[in-house]
Amino acid sequence: MDLLNTLVDKGLRRELPTREEALAVLATSDDDLLDVVAAAGKVRRHWFGRRVKLNYLVNLKSGLCPEDCSYCSQRLGSEAGILKYTWLKPDEASKAAAAGLAGGAKRVCLVASGRGPTDRDVDRVSQTIKAIKDENEGVEVCACLGLLSDGQAERLRAAGADAYNHNLNTSESTYGDITTTHTYADRVDTVQKAHAAGLSPCSGLIAGMGESDEDLVDVVFSLRELDPDSVPVNFLIPFEGTPLAKEWNLTPQRCLRILAMVRFVCPDVEVRIAGGREVHLRTMQPLALHLANSIFLGDYLTSEGQAGKADLEMIADAGFEVEGADQVTLPEHRAGGGCHEGAGACGSAPADAQPVAGEPRTDLVAVRRRGAGTDLAPNA
Ligand code: SF4
Repeated sequence: MDLLNTLVDKGLRRELPTREEALAVLATSDDDLLDVVAAAGKVRRHWFGRRVKLNYLVNLKSGLCPEDCSYCSQRLGSEAGILKYTWLKPDEASKAAAAGLAGGAKRVCLVASGRGPTDRDVDRVSQTIKAIKDENEGVEVCACLGLLSDGQAERLRAAGADAYNHNLNTSESTYGDITTTHTYADRVDTVQKAHAAGLSPCSGLIAGMGESDEDLVDVVFSLRELDPDSVPVNFLIPFEGTPLAKEWNLTPQRCLRILAMVRFVCPDVEVRIAGGREVHLRTMQPLALHLANSIFLGDYLTSEGQAGKADLEMIADAGFEVEGADQVTLPEHRAGGGCHEGAGACGSAPADAQPVAGEPRTDLVAVRRRGAGTDLAPNA
C-alpha cells in the first residue's frame, strides 16, 4: 500500500505525516490491519529495537478529587467503589515501588489524585522520591501530580524526579465536554513547565471517550508539537459510577490502528500502552507490542491489570525483551532527557459466559483491591 510505504519512510526520517495520512491509518479495513501493524512495527524497531520498557504505577493518593474529569473513577461525585486513601508515607510508597522494580520495571510513576499539588505536597513527594532513589540505584521516577504552579517543577527536578506526566487526553475542541473544572490550556501549560524545568515530559491521550477520528489526530498532532519524550495511550476503562460508564466504543482492531497512528506521528518517542490494555486489546495485546515500546507492569491506579508474570510471559512469547536499567530508552538524538485512568464495581461473568464480539466487557473491569493503600501484596 502506497500509504504505508510513505508512512514508514517518513517515520524513519522523523518526518511528520499529513493529517490525511494519519486519518487514513484510522480508516484502514480489517483486511489491511496486519499490513498496518507490520509497517508501524518497522518504525518501532528502527528506533527502539525489540525492547519493551516496563513502568510501575504507585497511586500515592487515591480518590476524593475535586475535579470533574468524566473518564476518571477518582473524580468529584464518582460512585465507583475504588480504594480511597490519602498520601502514602514515603516508606510505604517505596515498598510499593520496590515490588514493581523487582518485577522488571525501570520507571516508577508516582501519581496523586487532585487538581494539583500544594507546596507541602511537593515536599512529601520529594521525600518519597528520595526514599525510592536511596533504595534503588538507577531507577527513573516520574511524578504525576496534576497542574503545577510556578516553581514546583523545578523543586521536583531538584528532588530527583526524572520525568513529569500530564496527559492532554483529548483534542482541544472536545476538552470542555469531558472536563469543566480546568482547561486544555491549563494542561498544556503544565507540560511546558515540566519541560522547561528539565523534567522529561510525558503526555498522552485517552481513546474511546466518544471522540471522532479527527479528534484523535488533533490530540496526537498537538502532542507531537509539545514534543514529549513519552506518550501514554490509554483506552477508556468505562467504570460503573462515572459519566462514561456506557462508552464501550473500542475493538482490539481499533486500538491497534490508534497505536499505529501514534507511532507514525511520534515515531521516535516512547509510546506506552497504558490503562485499558487488557480490557480493550484483550488477546491482541502481543500484537500491540509491535507498535508500542513501553507498557505498565501489573495494576493501574484504581483498577487491576493482568498478573505481572503474565505481562513478562507475553513479552517473551511475542519475541520482545524487557529493557534493562542499563539500556537507554530513547534514541541518541532524544536521550538526555498518568496517568490517570478511568475506574467501578467489579463485574464478573459467569464461568460459562462466552465473550461476544462488539459487546461491552464489564467482566474485565476490576477495581484494584491490592497493593498501595492496602495490606495485600501488589501485583508485580
Ligand atoms: S484525572 Fe486527575 S484531576 Fe481529573 S478527576 Fe481524575 S484524579 Fe482528578
